[in-house]
Amino acid sequence: MKVKGTIQLKARKDESIRRRHPWVFSGAIRAIDAGIDSGDLVQVVANKGAELGFGHYSKGTSIAVRMLSFDASLPDADWFLERITEAVAVRRDLGLLTGEKQTICRLIHAEGDGMPGLIADFYGGVVVLQTHSVGMHYSVAMIKDALIQALGPLLHGIYDKSAKVLRKNGHTEHEDGYIHGQSPENWEAYERGNTFIIDLVEGQKTGFFIDQRENRFLLSQLVKGKKVLNTFSYTGGFSISALRGGASEVHSLDSSKRALEIGDANVIANGFNPSQHQSIQADALDFLKQGVADYDVVVLDPPAFAKSASARHAAIQGYKRINLRAIETMRPGSLLFTFSCSQAVDDRMFTNTVISAAIQAGRTARILHRLHQPADHPVSAFHPEGSYLKGLVLRID
Ligand code: SAH
Repeated sequence: MKVKGTIQLKARKDESIRRRHPWVFSGAIRAIDAGIDSGDLVQVVANKGAELGFGHYSKGTSIAVRMLSFDASLPDADWFLERITEAVAVRRDLGLLTGEKQTICRLIHAEGDGMPGLIADFYGGVVVLQTHSVGMHYSVAMIKDALIQALGPLLHGIYDKSAKVLRKNGHTEHEDGYIHGQSPENWEAYERGNTFIIDLVEGQKTGFFIDQRENRFLLSQLVKGKKVLNTFSYTGGFSISALRGGASEVHSLDSSKRALEIGDANVIANGFNPSQHQSIQADALDFLKQGVADYDVVVLDPPAFAKSASARHAAIQGYKRINLRAIETMRPGSLLFTFSCSQAVDDRMFTNTVISAAIQAGRTARILHRLHQPADHPVSAFHPEGSYLKGLVLRID
């Protein structure tokens, strides 16, 4: 990929880049070379011309450049191979790639793996790519070659699922599809001993919410003989984990019929008795309003309520409402697993919101666990914004 030109920053706006924070905001830019367009590789220089590194330019968005390197190295094929080989090694060392019935993990976590704009999820040999910037989209051939080399015989196929996210950035030309191989027949992927059917073509995000793996495992340890309500269940990640942990009965609730159907299929694929599981298609808030005193454990894992800092206030109200509705009617001694995946709502805000819901409900609540995203969703020390998933396990009395 050729460097298309230079972007010069305003005075002092180089400081965060020198600390290796990878985002250049549009307000920090003093001058852009003529002819630079979205997706171009640009060199970023400080106000007085000092060279800071290279990144992908995005026109008309608040993050104008996503930095890839912070020195003279160009993000070429060798650069991608090195980064991707390292990212694969991290997951292999964590035992997430080829473990015993453990083959689902996030392979590349954007800024957390030094590749802003790039997500790659691994489903038992099938990689689902999501390029969030046009620059990464233009780099897909190099990314593909690097994945083929880094994964070797572990790789069956690469599916590029970027159309929806690229369209949001004004890029409409991409269509989703396999760019290498395909998924093998009778293809199954595993998470900590559980089998999951991954709907990578029609499903949400890359097909599955991998970031809840360790939290699902914790749930499985705490539900023996209990009745569990899993709201915002998607394809039943928490539900399958609850059944694995010996829950007596599990109800999965989601607004998506298709997600629930796959959830039902996942119950069968894991050999559980379908009479122990029930799918409910409903709006979560409406359902919670009817009362949940019937359950011993309730899971609340809504989609991101705040997609940006400006939506934060409304998001906090949203979290308060669903947590209040649940806590109000939960039976004494029951457990609440409650989550937020909004990056704009931090740990403390979320905890305070849940605590205030408990106070308003007039209930005693103990925080038993504070939960986060797992190790295959690493946070770069230079980019704390990468920490987005937080959760609490509360005992309600
Ligand atoms: N807990 C899931 C991931 C949840 S993603 C897992 O472990 O895989 C959020 C889910 O909320 C999606 O499946 C989406 O269909 C569902 N959803 C969104 N709005 C909803 C609403 N108002 N009521 C119920 N479900 C909703």
